[in-house]
Amino acid sequence: MTNIIWLKGGACSGNTMSFLNAEQPSVIELVTDFGIRILYHPTIGLEIGEQVNEVLNEAVNEIVPLDIFVFEGSVIQGSNGSGSMNYFAGRPMLEWVTDLAEVAQYVVAIGDCATWGGIMAVPPNPSESTGMQFHKKEKGGYLGEDFTSRAGWPIINIPGCPAHPDWMTQILVAIATGRMSEVLLDDYNRPKTFFTDFVQTGCTNASAFSDKVKGQFGQRGGCLFYEVGCRGPMTRATCNRILWNRTSSKTRANHPCLGCTEPGFPHHDLKKGSVFKTMKYLGYFPQEAPTGENRLSFYFKSGIQKALSSSKKHQGSK
Ligand code: SF4
Ligand code: SF4
Repeated sequence: MTNIIWLKGGACSGNTMSFLNAEQPSVIELVTDFGIRILYHPTIGLEIGEQVNEVLNEAVNEIVPLDIFVFEGSVIQGSNGSGSMNYFAGRPMLEWVTDLAEVAQYVVAIGDCATWGGIMAVPPNPSESTGMQFHKKEKGGYLGEDFTSRAGWPIINIPGCPAHPDWMTQILVAIATGRMSEVLLDDYNRPKTFFTDFVQTGCTNASAFSDKVKGQFGQRGGCLFYEVGCRGPMTRATCNRILWNRTSSKTRANHPCLGCTEPGFPHHDLKKGSVFKTMKYLGYFPQEAPTGENRLSFYFKSGIQKALSSSKKHQGSK
């Protein structure tokens, strides 16, 4: 049996909704096939009132072993670091976070708010929200950069707004089946298996990206990078390889990728004109180049590709 406690801080519950949609494996299969026992989950748990305190205290006092502590949502530290803005089961939620993280074998942060603070931590951040082990791109967060769980792991970050359901269930299975030695984390503590390739890998608009053909919302045949702020080339996630609902993805439906698995999300802190819009220099050049590309050489290369593709089209029409 692998015991899990799942709690939520500053959260919209989007990650829970996503989790419940998991297919490979599903939440039911976690329980029936992989021996996962959900001791408490605020959305699907049956416990109320004092019963919740009992479950949590049994874990904190190590009467019942806690294998995985999952946290969804930001850690709310307001006001003035007291955590009094987010009470749960009789105490500030951040005190439960401290105590449960201390006794858990593994701690998993699900979604952007738990990983880096997310939308909750956008300035002026009145709730003093932060992530479990990161605050935006900076290591630290609520538990501090040196935190490791009982099994010797840092916080395992599964970001996304929400995270893809199968990213969550597959990591829980890796823990439950003792396969964590096969899981490698990147510099932001994300499992590399899901966060190495870019969203652009597998995007059906990839040739329009190289040909610099501009696309629009919901319109076929163009790339969303140039006008509507698609962050597919700068965002590491498998959205176009492990499809959502095993069917589609944002960019396949011609909706720009918002870069929700990167620690800068929401990018530009939701500054006016930065959402669904490509930020530009001199009103023409996209301010951000694909990750790993030098901005000038990217502009130069894409200019040549554009010229080549229009000359091919021109020759074809003769
Ligand atoms: S920028 Fe976005 S729409 Fe364009 S190819 Fe990349 S992922 Fe697809
Ligand atoms: S396509 Fe981009 S914004 Fe959408 S879920 Fe994937 S990483 Fe997040």
